[in-house]
Amino acid sequence: MRSDVDIGPCDVGLGVFAARDLAPGETILTFRGPRVEWDDPIHGSPLGANLLQTGRRTYIMPSPPAVLVNHSCDPNAGLVRNRTLVALTPIPRGKEIRFDYSTTMDDGLWSLECRCGSPLCRGLVTDFHQLPVEVKERYLSLGVVQGFIARRCLGRPFAPGFPLPFTSVRSPISSSGSAGSSV
Ligand SMILES: [Zn+2]
Repeated sequence: MRSDVDIGPCDVGLGVFAARDLAPGETILTFRGPRVEWDDPIHGSPLGANLLQTGRRTYIMPSPPAVLVNHSCDPNAGLVRNRTLVALTPIPRGKEIRFDYSTTMDDGLWSLECRCGSPLCRGLVTDFHQLPVEVKERYLSLGVVQGFIARRCLGRPFAPGFPLPFTSVRSPISSSGSAGSSV
């Protein structure tokens, strides 16, 4: 396991914690694991909740520690290039690392009652297309939406890269945002 993270208990079971201070934009870990198809029976089992959607009809079953990264409606990390978890905010050593599962979900197969405890909690973790428009635009502008979802939203090829516009992570998207009005 990389030394950048620790696994430990949190209020929803196990979680992944920063083993050192992480700066915005820093790579935290990579999601790796066997590929799973859209029609695999695992979707109907409890294990299905652990899948990471990487394409319109494709998933991977992540190995630890990635599979243990929990959801937050106000995340301090996000996924770029479909599999790489990066810090969106400064994450001090010992702080739990969470990303918004909705940035990776768009298949109509799964939802989760959310207990993330954030003042911004939406109550239900749903597919990306069901998010409020302003939330979608913020994630798209940050480049932390899976490529197959971003392409659908933006209507054009989408290749998030660095540097990401992290300064907008906690502020509303301005009308000049690049996400456009087609979201
Ligand atoms: Zn929540």
